[in-house]
Amino acid sequence: MVNAKYFYTQHNYYMARNQPTHKSYTIATLGSHSALGILKGAKEEGFKTLCICKPQDRITYDSFGVADKIIETASFSDFPKLKGIDNKTIFIPHGSYTAYVDMDDFPFPIFGNRELIKVESNRDTQREWIVKSGLKVPEVYHSTEDIDGLVIVKFHGAAGGKGYFLAYSRENFEEKRRRMVRAGIVTEKQLEKIHIQKYIIGVNVYASYFNSVVRDELELLCFDKRYEANVDNIGRVPAEDQIATMVTPTYTVTGNIPLSIRESLLPEFFRMGEAVARTARGLSEKGMIGPFCLENVINQKLEIITFELSARIVAGTNVDIGGGPYFHLKHGPGMHMGRRIALEIKEGIQQGMLDELLT
Ligand code: AMP
Ligand code: AMP
Repeated sequence: MVNAKYFYTQHNYYMARNQPTHKSYTIATLGSHSALGILKGAKEEGFKTLCICKPQDRITYDSFGVADKIIETASFSDFPKLKGIDNKTIFIPHGSYTAYVDMDDFPFPIFGNRELIKVESNRDTQREWIVKSGLKVPEVYHSTEDIDGLVIVKFHGAAGGKGYFLAYSRENFEEKRRRMVRAGIVTEKQLEKIHIQKYIIGVNVYASYFNSVVRDELELLCFDKRYEANVDNIGRVPAEDQIATMVTPTYTVTGNIPLSIRESLLPEFFRMGEAVARTARGLSEKGMIGPFCLENVINQKLEIITFELSARIVAGTNVDIGGGPYFHLKHGPGMHMGRRIALEIKEGIQQGMLDELLT
């Protein structure tokens, strides 16, 4: 008769010896946006790390010691020419990829779904995804003739709010547009392709999720708000002086501020995340892989209106590097988005599911 205890001890020993190890893999990313947390988290989970950065930015990655190897590049779009990247290197996409890299030509495997990153990077397809998920969205204006109240004028791509401005009528739009170009804040070229949304009065709340393919679970992990120049400090200039000097609010992101959300709002945030992940399965076969973010305004009626979606890690999760309240609740101390990504890849390798996590 087989001694069950002996059998399982032998079995575990065999499994441990033959398990594919994640330690032979490298986690890589571009040195900007959320690279510090991504690389730190990868090291914490036992991966080798690689940072590709501009020469002038090297100081950051050297100083914090998060990269085992650094490759310098003059331009982020020079990817196909880069040497020294082996075939066990997994890239983690972030905001700089959407802004500076053509994901169609990206030659290395990424953790995440590149088809969904493409859907997200076009404002029209992104909006369809949010609407299809049943979330509330701000009204969109297709012509400046239709502006009949306060609107926010945006540009394409992840430019971190740079150059956005407000207007309340067609005439006001034209005046502001001239003023913004004259001041060198936006170019005529940018103004050829604009996106006009109704401005929602409320507070902005960015909610970051993690869709775990390995654990088959959606996790709600982080909230933040942005710190933007100059809108977040314009109130320090008295109204009278604002009018006299024609100060206009702009929305250039300079950092992020951690946030804990009113607890009774959490169920709605869970439902919203679930709906977005469910819709994603209809948009791309592999569905949502890993981190994504819903960018919202909550108004005084406590309605959550979603004005943007990012199908990858957002820089707002930097507020929780080393741990944050919702990471702590779900995973215990020390978890953060970069580390959560690495943990998923590690578990994927151990369970033979890596193919499902990469595109
Ligand atoms: P950077 O390397 O700082 O130029 O950032 C790369 C891209 O990510 C740019 O498009 C930025 O606008 C965007 N970005 C950087 N940091 C943040 C942030 N904290 N929030 C939102 N977007 C950001
Ligand atoms: P974004 O680059 O789209 O994440 O937005 C940059 C800034 O514009 C953030 O401060 C948002 O809160 C604000 N914002 C964007 N869309 C809207 C909107 N429809 N209503 C109110 N604020 C908005």
